[in-house]
Amino acid sequence: MSEPKPLPPHLTGGNFLLTETNPDLVSTPEDLAAEQRLMAQTAGKFMEKEVLPNFEALEHQQEGLSPKLFRKAGELGLLGIEVPEAYGGLGLGKISGIGVGEQFTRLGGFGVTIGAHCGIGTQPLIYFGTEAQKKKYLSKLATGEWTGAYALSETGSGSDALGMRTKATLSPDGKHYVLNGAKMWISNAGWADLFTIFAKVDGQHVTAFLVERTFPGLSTGKEEHKLGIKSSSTRRVMLEDVKVPVENVLGEVGKGAYIAFNILNFGRFGLGAGAIGGAKDLLKVATRYALERQQFGKAIASFGLIQHKLAEMAAQIFAGESIVYRTAGMIDAVMATGELMDSMTPNFPRGLDEFALECSVIKVACSEIMDFVADETLQIHGGYGYTEEFPAARAYRDSRINRIFEGTNEINRLFIPGLLMRRAQRGRLPLLQAIAKISKDILDLAPFDDSAGGDELAAAQSLIANAKKLALMLAGVTYQKFGDKLIDEQEVLASLSDIISDIYQAESALLRTLKARQAGGKSTVMSDLTLIFVNDAAGRMEAHARQSLAATSEGDELRGQLGLVRRLLRWQPLNTVALRRRIAKRLCELGNYPALIEGK
Ligand SMILES: Cc1cc2nc3c(=O)[nH]c(=O)nc-3n(C[C@H](O)[C@H](O)[C@H](O)COP(=O)(O)OP(=O)(O)OC[C@H]3O[C@@H](n4cnc5c(N)ncnc54)[C@H](O)[C@@H]3O)c2cc1C
Repeated sequence: MSEPKPLPPHLTGGNFLLTETNPDLVSTPEDLAAEQRLMAQTAGKFMEKEVLPNFEALEHQQEGLSPKLFRKAGELGLLGIEVPEAYGGLGLGKISGIGVGEQFTRLGGFGVTIGAHCGIGTQPLIYFGTEAQKKKYLSKLATGEWTGAYALSETGSGSDALGMRTKATLSPDGKHYVLNGAKMWISNAGWADLFTIFAKVDGQHVTAFLVERTFPGLSTGKEEHKLGIKSSSTRRVMLEDVKVPVENVLGEVGKGAYIAFNILNFGRFGLGAGAIGGAKDLLKVATRYALERQQFGKAIASFGLIQHKLAEMAAQIFAGESIVYRTAGMIDAVMATGELMDSMTPNFPRGLDEFALECSVIKVACSEIMDFVADETLQIHGGYGYTEEFPAARAYRDSRINRIFEGTNEINRLFIPGLLMRRAQRGRLPLLQAIAKISKDILDLAPFDDSAGGDELAAAQSLIANAKKLALMLAGVTYQKFGDKLIDEQEVLASLSDIISDIYQAESALLRTLKARQAGGKSTVMSDLTLIFVNDAAGRMEAHARQSLAATSEGDELRGQLGLVRRLLRWQPLNTVALRRRIAKRLCELGNYPALIEGK
C-alpha cells in the first residue's frame, strides 16, 4: 500500500491544527444553494405531515408503520441523496444531505431508522460493492424498496469490534461461505432486507458479507426494551449455518476492518449532523416554553439564568453546525477529485478516509451538544419537563444513545490523537516537524496582544492560533515523556482530544463569521455566538492543558510549562453575560435558531 499524494493544506485531514485557513475556503450553511434548501424543506414537510403526527404510534412500534413511512421517504427521493444516479439515487454530496438528515432527527427514533439505512446500511455498498452487487442491491436501497442494516457489534465485542466471534467457513465446493454466530444491537434489524454482516473467515480474517434477510438460517431476536429512540428497531441477529454466496463477499476476504471503520467515519459525520438538527428543533421548543411560562408575574425568558441557557444552547449549536458544514465541504471536495486509496480491492475514495479525525470530533462534540441542549430544554420546562406530556423528556431519552453508538465518545476521544500520531508517523501529516518547530519557537514567543486593538474577532483569531501551538506543545511534551506508552495515558489523550475539538469548533465558527462579514452580511449574532464559544473554550483548554502537564512533568519543568500555557492562552475575559443576554433577547424575538442566524 502506498501513501496517498499530498492534498492542498485546507483539504488535508487534521491539517487545521498546523495551518491557518482562509475563510473563503470554508463551507458554511450560508452557502447552500436553493435546491439544497428545497430538499430540506421537502423533508421538513414530510416530517410535519406524515411522521410527527404519528409519533405516539411510532414510539409504540405500531406494526408496519415505520417501514411504511420509510418507503414514503424513499418515494420522495430522500433516501438516495448520496447514491450515484446510475443506481437510482441523486448522486449528491454530503452538504446536500445535511438539511434533510436534520429534519429526520426531529423524532430521534425515526432519525435512527433513516440514518442507519442511509449511512452504515447503504454506504458499504456504495463504496465497496462490485458492479454486480450494486446493480442487484443498491437501487433497492436508494429508493427505500429495501432497508439496510450494518451488523458489527456482538454481545462480547462492542468497542473491541474486531474481537467478534461470528465465523465464516468456505463450503467444500467453494460456492458459499457458511456463517455462524450472533450480532447484537442491530439498528433496523426488525425490518431490514439486507444486512452487511462482519464475520471472521476461518475464525481469523475479518470480512464483510451482504446477507439477505431471507437467507435460511438468519433470524432476529425480539425488540430491545430501550431507554429512548423507541420508534427505531434494535434487535439481535442470529446466524445458524447461513449460506452466503461467495459473490456476496463485500470487498476482499480479510479486509473487512477497512470497510467497518471507514464506513464508521461517515456514520459519525451523519450522527453529528443529525444531532445538531435535533438540537436546533429543541431550542425552538425551549424558547417557546420560556416565553409562555409565567413565574413571579413574568415570562421565565426574562430571567438571566434562563437567558443564559438559551444563548449557551445557541452558541454551542452554532459551533457544532460550523464544523459539520466545514467538514462536509472538505469531504465533498476530496470526493470530487476522484482520488482513490489503494489499500484494498476495490480501491475506495480517499474522501472516505481523509477526514476520519474531523468526523470523530463531530461525533463527540455534536452528540454532547445535543445532550446538553436536551438537558437544558428539560430544565427550562421545570417539573413539566419531567413528564411525558412535553417533548423534552423524550428528547432527553433519545439523545443519550448518541454518545454510545458509532464508537463510544471515549473510543472516539482516544482515536483523535491516535490518528494524528499515526498519520504523522506515516508522513501523511507534517505534525512531527510542526512539533519540533514549536518546541524551538515557543521560547521566543512575542507577547500576545489579547485586545487586538479592540477587534474582538481578531483577538479570538490570535487565541485560536496560539491554542494550536499549545496543542502541538502538549503532544510533543507528552510524547517525549511517555513515548509509545502514551497510548496507556488515556486521560492525557482525552484532554488533548478535547483541546483539538475546541480548536476545530472555535476556528470553524470564527471562519464562518468572517466569511459572512466579508460577504457584507450582518454578522453581529454570529460574532456574539463565536465570542461566547471562544471565551469559554479558552478556559476549558487551559484546564485540560494544566491537568495533562501536571500528570506529565513536575518541579521547575512543570512551572515553566504552566507559564507557557498562561502566555499562550492569555485572553481578556469578555462580558459574556451581556453577549448572552443580547442573543437570548434576539432568539426570543425571532423564535428559532435558523431565524436568529439569518437575522429574520
Ligand atoms: C440502540 C443501539 C443501536 C445500535 N446499533 C448498532 C448497529 O446498527 N450496528 C452495530 O454493529 N452496532 C450497533 N450498536 C452497538 C454499539 O455500537 C455499541 O453498543 C458500542 O460500540 C459500545 O459497545 P458496548 O455496548 O459493547 O460497550 P463496551 O465496549 O463494553 O463499553 C463499555 C464502556 O467502556 C468504555 N470502554 C470500552 N473500551 C474502552 C477503552 N479501550 N478505553 C476506555 N474506555 C473503554 C466504553 O466507552 C463504555 O463507556 C448499537 C447500540 C445501541 C445501544
